[in-house]
Amino acid sequence: MKIIYSDAHKAHADALEMRGEAFVPMAECPERMEVILAALAQAGLRDVEAPEPHGLAAAARIHDPDFLTFLETAYPLWEKRHGPSRAVFARIFGMRGLAQKPQMDNIDAMLSAYTFDIFSPFVPGTWTAIRSALDVTLTAAGKVQAGAREAFALCRPPGHHASGDLAGGYCYLNNAAIAAQMLRDQGAARVAILDIDYHHGNGTQRIFYDRDDVLFISLHGRPEEEYPFLLGFAHETGRGCGEGFNINLPMPPGTRIDTYLPALQDAAARVRAYAPDVLVLSLGVDTFDGDPVGGFCLQTPDYLRLGQVIAGLRLPTLFVMEGGYAIAPLGQNVTNVLTGYLQG
Ligand SMILES: [Zn+2]
Repeated sequence: MKIIYSDAHKAHADALEMRGEAFVPMAECPERMEVILAALAQAGLRDVEAPEPHGLAAAARIHDPDFLTFLETAYPLWEKRHGPSRAVFARIFGMRGLAQKPQMDNIDAMLSAYTFDIFSPFVPGTWTAIRSALDVTLTAAGKVQAGAREAFALCRPPGHHASGDLAGGYCYLNNAAIAAQMLRDQGAARVAILDIDYHHGNGTQRIFYDRDDVLFISLHGRPEEEYPFLLGFAHETGRGCGEGFNINLPMPPGTRIDTYLPALQDAAARVRAYAPDVLVLSLGVDTFDGDPVGGFCLQTPDYLRLGQVIAGLRLPTLFVMEGGYAIAPLGQNVTNVLTGYLQG
């Protein structure tokens, strides 16, 4: 399995997030990639390649141009106005109703307009890491497009909470959505995105909600109890010609493999019925029992079974890294999905 990876993600580090009543180092940290790489190597998955540089054209197929400018300029603008900070996020969020187009030199207004929570902070190296995740994802997508059976985009920051003009939930650019659009633009008639991160892929849902050429299926903690709360319900099934092409499979807190696996098999059956040319797998393992931001109870050996179900689809598959924050078992959990897939 070709693994695309770059060290450039390390520039996005040392930001703070709120947990309980305290500001703590962000769970979405550079060490995540290090433990995954180490576990992959241990399992013999050592075919690691650096990404090719890509411009922003593919990202601009999904994201608003002013939003891209915002991501690039957010930290420098903040520093100019307020000084250095590890907690660069909005203090006020967008208000429904009247148009609220921010002035593109007013960082406070831009943060209000282009983020939906306080969990996508900016540090000096955030844009470097965002660009590197884009390069990693597009390079891996290019491998699949060129005929590879599978490729793994090992990247951070993750993407599935980001939509066309909103960052949030550790996510800035929606890497999986950009890859799916790139694959469509390069000739795939239909693309399926299967999102197995613990959290609902609200950004990906919003991006493809009105479309029938990209099927989106998300398995996640149900929004009655879990982030992002406002979206991820089973009744959100798409709109217009996208009706029926958005599938949410929410599950209750404490879900174990005996509940999870049938839901994944149901998702796989729906992917098969859709008959896509390619599968994009939003790979989050924060479904693990004990993940600091998760609520399911999957165990490390269970991830082999997830990989086997995905392999059973017999589709060209692009794995794109999303969440997973229990550092000690993270590497093995990701590795088990991939080895389960390769054995499946
Ligand atoms: Zn997650």
